[in-house]
Amino acid sequence: MNGTVYLSPPDVGPLEESYLIAALRSGWAAPVGPDLEAFEQAVAGRVGTDGAVAVNSGTAALHLALLGVGVGPGDVVIVPTLTFVATANAVRYVGARAVFVDCDPRTGNVDVDLVEGLIRRLRARGERVGAMVPVDMFGSCADYSALGPLCAEAGVPLVEDAAEALGASHAGRPAGSFGQVGVLSFNGNKIMTTSGGGMLVSDDTALLARARHLATQAREPARHYEHRETGYNYRLSNLLAALGRAQLIRLDGMIARRRHLRDSYAKLFAPVPGVRLLNAEDAESNCWLTVITVERDRCGWRADDLAAHLAERDIETRPVWKPMHMQPLHLGAECLLTGAAERLFADGVTLPSGSALTEPQTARVFAAIEDFLALRAGG
Ligand SMILES: *Cc1c(COP(=O)(O)O)cnc(C)c1O
Repeated sequence: MNGTVYLSPPDVGPLEESYLIAALRSGWAAPVGPDLEAFEQAVAGRVGTDGAVAVNSGTAALHLALLGVGVGPGDVVIVPTLTFVATANAVRYVGARAVFVDCDPRTGNVDVDLVEGLIRRLRARGERVGAMVPVDMFGSCADYSALGPLCAEAGVPLVEDAAEALGASHAGRPAGSFGQVGVLSFNGNKIMTTSGGGMLVSDDTALLARARHLATQAREPARHYEHRETGYNYRLSNLLAALGRAQLIRLDGMIARRRHLRDSYAKLFAPVPGVRLLNAEDAESNCWLTVITVERDRCGWRADDLAAHLAERDIETRPVWKPMHMQPLHLGAECLLTGAAERLFADGVTLPSGSALTEPQTARVFAAIEDFLALRAGG
């Protein structure tokens, strides 16, 4: 078998094709239309919120979510340092400043123990804390049992970056539903895709109405083009929404495939000392990406060694997100660190996790890892 095995390629097939073609033939090749409305309703139904607004990326959704909870110039926003850059970029779009907080080494999610003290410290200095943006890392929800009450008590709006977590839950409640507003991504590598897209989900209908307004160039309801404020062109195409409807129908099946892969990795690595699966015990994860962490002192090799071995065999892996406080973009940013995110970045690697991986491809990945482990055990 040749060809590259990708980390998390799009999983689209005949159902998506039929939905897309039906939307095209309906004449609604526009950023409005029946598929868009149906997609928003279906996702809101899935997440359990009163409403949703579809946009053309998760990043756009984050931007509108921060505007929606009133974050503005001069505010600080608490963001986990372990995340994709989009979370922090959105903070800059609204003229605010991100303060980075470290993660729990066991989950990769925000270290809740640090947050309360950080809010207090920032406020003591006279800062306005505009929002806290937890990220549901690799498809496992942050600890909302603790974060929810903490933010409510402190009066800090909670914006859930659930870009990686559609279909996951925490204590039985769906990812996306925990904040004043939640953000989803349908980028090509995510658990489900519209090839590019995102969504805001919320019970706050006024917030959603305002997001919808801003996403359509803030156009006032007049026959001529009337504008009172600066808006954005963030709406999702009706065609892509049709693709999303088909993906949503298949979401549970795609999650089951990813979970099966994770379970297989867990079995494979169980006898290897020093190797651990991140969030393996989280039964409510959507298993978006399987991450292992490698303690070199115990197993004699590093995550990078396995990555190099797999790369030689055309199998794609990626490091865990490089923490924001280590990025040139955020040099000198304020942060509250324990070293956990840096260690995950050094010791972690994400393994091929896509639901579109074929049986021969998974067999190839597992054989390659077994080869590597045998080589290392022997040498
Ligand atoms: C993918 C992702 C985003 C951004 O979504 P896009 O649709 O690619 O703009 C935001 N936050 C996190 C944590 C992500 O993984």
